[in-house]
Formats: sequence, C-alpha cells, structure tokens
Amino acid sequence: MTTVAVARPSADLLRTEAFLAGRWQPGETGRTFPVTNPDNGEVIAHVADLGAAETRRAIESAEASRENWARGHTAKQRAAILRRWFDLVVARREELATILTLEQGKPYAEACGEVTFGASYIDFYAQEATRLYGEVVPSDRPDRRIVVLTEPVGVVAAITPWNFPLAMVTRKIAPALAAGCPVVLKPAEQTPLTALALAVLAERAGFPPGVVNVVTGQDPEPIGRELAGHRLTRAVTFTGSTEVGKLLMAQAAATVSRVSLELGGNAPFVVFEDADLDAAVHGLIGSKFRASGQTCVCANRVFVHEAIYDAFAERLVAAVAELPVGGGFEPGVQIGPLIDDRAVTKVLAHVEQARAAGARVLTGGSKHRRGGGYVDPTVLADVDPAMTVAREETFGPVAPLLRFAGEDEVVALANDSEYGLAANVFTRDLGRAWRMGERLEYGTVGINTGVMSSELAPAGGMKQSGVGREGSRHGIGEFVETKYLCIEGIASANP
Ligand code: ADP
Repeated sequence: MTTVAVARPSADLLRTEAFLAGRWQPGETGRTFPVTNPDNGEVIAHVADLGAAETRRAIESAEASRENWARGHTAKQRAAILRRWFDLVVARREELATILTLEQGKPYAEACGEVTFGASYIDFYAQEATRLYGEVVPSDRPDRRIVVLTEPVGVVAAITPWNFPLAMVTRKIAPALAAGCPVVLKPAEQTPLTALALAVLAERAGFPPGVVNVVTGQDPEPIGRELAGHRLTRAVTFTGSTEVGKLLMAQAAATVSRVSLELGGNAPFVVFEDADLDAAVHGLIGSKFRASGQTCVCANRVFVHEAIYDAFAERLVAAVAELPVGGGFEPGVQIGPLIDDRAVTKVLAHVEQARAAGARVLTGGSKHRRGGGYVDPTVLADVDPAMTVAREETFGPVAPLLRFAGEDEVVALANDSEYGLAANVFTRDLGRAWRMGERLEYGTVGINTGVMSSELAPAGGMKQSGVGREGSRHGIGEFVETKYLCIEGIASANP
C-alpha cells in the first residue's frame, strides 16, 4: 500500500510513562494499558495505568510548584518558556502528527494541521501572559486607593478528549500556564501518546518540575473524581461529553472549584435560498466531515430551504461520494476511521433509525468496505427533526438534510435543542446574516463559513454545551482571580 512520506518519530518523543513532579514514572502498580491504532486495531504502545493515588500526588506536586511558578517567575519569564515550548512543537510538527495519526486515525495532513493549530494557542498565550493587567479604580475617598490585581487561580486540572489529542491539550493548558497556574492533565485513554510527547517538549522548554503533570490511566472515573474533588484543585477544565461534564461539575461543587466545560453539541447548519450553493457545500464538507465528523462543532442538522433543497442535495452528494476514505497515512485520504467500534455502532444505528422512519439514503449509509472503524460518508434526505440523527450528536460522517420554508421557522428549529455550541448559516443577504447571528442561541456562529476555529477567538457553549470560553483573552480569564486591594492611610505624608 502506498503511503505519504511521513516523519518517523524519534524515540525521545515516544514516552509511555506518566510525567509527575518533573519525573517520568510508571504507576504505583506497574500496570499498563494498550493504545491501539484505529486504522487496524494494532496495539501501538502500552502506557502507564495510574489511579487516584498517583493523581493525588500529581496535584500535590503541582501545588508545591505553585508559588514558584506564580510569583518566582515574572510573566515575561513564563512567556519565554511558553515560547520555547511553541518553537519545539513547531520544530517537531511532523513527528507529532505521525503519533497523532497513529493513535487517533485522522489523515496525516489533518494531523499536521492540528499540530499547527494547537501550537498557535501556545504562541498566543505566551504573548497574553504579559498582558494580564490589573486596574486602578478612581477612589471614593481621598485617603484610599482601589487596586484590582489579577492573580493565577491555583492548581488547574485539565481533562481532554481523543478527537483533538494535541489541540485540546494546548488550548486548555497554555492559558493556565501563562496565567501562572500549575496543571495536572489527564488525556483521553485512547490518545495519551500525543499528550506525553507534548510533555517531553514542555520539560525541554524549561517548565520547572511540578508545573506540568500528565496522569495517564485506563479508567477515567477515579482520576477524574480526584482531580475535580481535591481541595487543592482550583479550576477544572474539561472537553468531552455532557454527561461527564455534569458529573465533574457536581464533583467540583464540593470544593467550589471553578469549572470550564466544553460539552456536546447539536450544531445546526442553515442554507438559505439565496446562498452560494458551492460555497455552502464546501463549508459543509469542512464542518461535517473534518475528523470524520468527530468534532463537537460538526454540523449535526443541515437545514436547507425548500426552494434549493434538491439542487443542494445533488451537489452535496456529488462532493461526498468523492471523499477518499482510508488509513491516515494513505495519500489524499480525507476520511479516516472512527475512533472505535462503539462509535461505528452508534453512527450506523442513527442511520438505521432514520431510514426506518422514512429518511432516504442519498449516498453511503453503511459500513465502508474496508471494515474496521470505517463508515461510508453519508448523506440522508427527508430527515425529520424528531429522528435520533437530528436530536443526538452522531459524531460520524453523516449529513442529515432537513427542509425549511422560512426564517422564523428555521430559527425555532435550530434553537430547539438543549445544546448551544456552534451553528453555521449560508446566505448572501446581509440583514438576514446579522439577524441569524443574533437569534441563534449558540456560542459560535459562522456566517458563510464551515470552519471557525482560531486561537484568537473565544469558543464555548451556551445551554448544556458548557460554561466558559477557550481562545482569545477570554480563555486566560478562566484561570485568573480578581483581587481587590484596598489601600488606606496614604492621603498625607507622615510627620
Ligand atoms: P467520549 O464518550 O467522547 O469519549 P468522554 O466525556 O467520555 O467522551 O471523554 C472525554 C474525556 O473525559 C476523556 O479524557 C475521558 O477519559 C474522560 N472521562 C470519561 N469519564 C470520566 C469520568 N467519570 N470522570 C472524569 N473524566 C472522565
């Protein structure tokens, strides 16, 4: 089989032990768990399997490093270390992408893109570290000064998903580190190798021992309970399912620790009758089929105006049927395998339920002939808002097309969800673009674009899609305390 030319990762990046208190260590029990390649199910590595006890030690080591990181280093010194980390990540981009594709399955070109995207958060927050300004507020009394200080919140626990094994890590921990917080990271059990490789480069960049900790483990429950519930954890930042997000929020309530949660979505993608149809098809391919449909901002319900429904469906099917499916290292591939069998079963069940309820399969609709984790890129027509495929997040390469007739109707349909993460609208009417941007109850709204992610912009959800924002100056705010310093007795000089 031909493959693209890929960088073989050097041994120094391939770590399988956890990184605690500045040391690479196996778990207390010495147990490991397998990490598999979603392309073929082969075991790539065995990684240290840690639990609650080691997580506690990681939190304690983070706390022990806190004072030095927050106060012993100036913002400028922290920025310099982050910047070195950024340079190292960029220099090892292709090797990191190889590790990412091996454990996650996404096409190598997409993995390279993720490394660049993920690194941009480190670069941005290295700069932002030096811009965490306080305020001096005009006082109500002549002998008193009102000063507002920004201070790091303390130990941050970060729990990340498997769909972006690199970018979700940097997007959470770069702002925390920049703010002066030590972190304990728990990567998804499916994709720990990318996170460990990032930790290798972080260590080399010069973060002091204990500032960056990576706890790997097969069973997330005890690790998560410890991370969210420990009295020294001051903020929990999580991306993953709504179900786990709610659990972590409840656990964090015990110590009133902050939470930032980016949870599930049910993104509407609205195509009006005046849209540029080719641009809309292109946007939908980007939104729906990136990472094989496994992102929380992927379009999940495609609302198409009835006047252009058939024309749009035809153009979409022509594009989707062409999408090359295959292993991440094969040339030109755009659709990789889903993460595991459970994901395949769920995606096919959504398709089957829709078909049984009257939807038409315009292309795809079954397991891909390669077998394994591969599903045909699929387009469904005549989908009804009540069908499972339109109510739950499918997390796979399936575009369900729904019909609408008017703007008010589509706003109501689009907002009829407990989720509110991302939405897209295609229209050439400026007034309508603004109205839709304002009326859709979603944290991110893309107008005439399918892909909005940027380190410069705040991303996050409304309703049950989460709390808090990542990216931009808002992202670092999640890890900053606002302190009011009141200084009195300065109105006159001492005798
Ligand atoms: P998915 O079903 O897409 O894998 P999850 O929410 O289960 O989404 O996973 C996202 C992250 O949350 C992963 O790192 C996973 O290990 C972690 N996780 C899963 N269950 C728990 C839990 N009970 N407590 C803490 N973290 C968890």
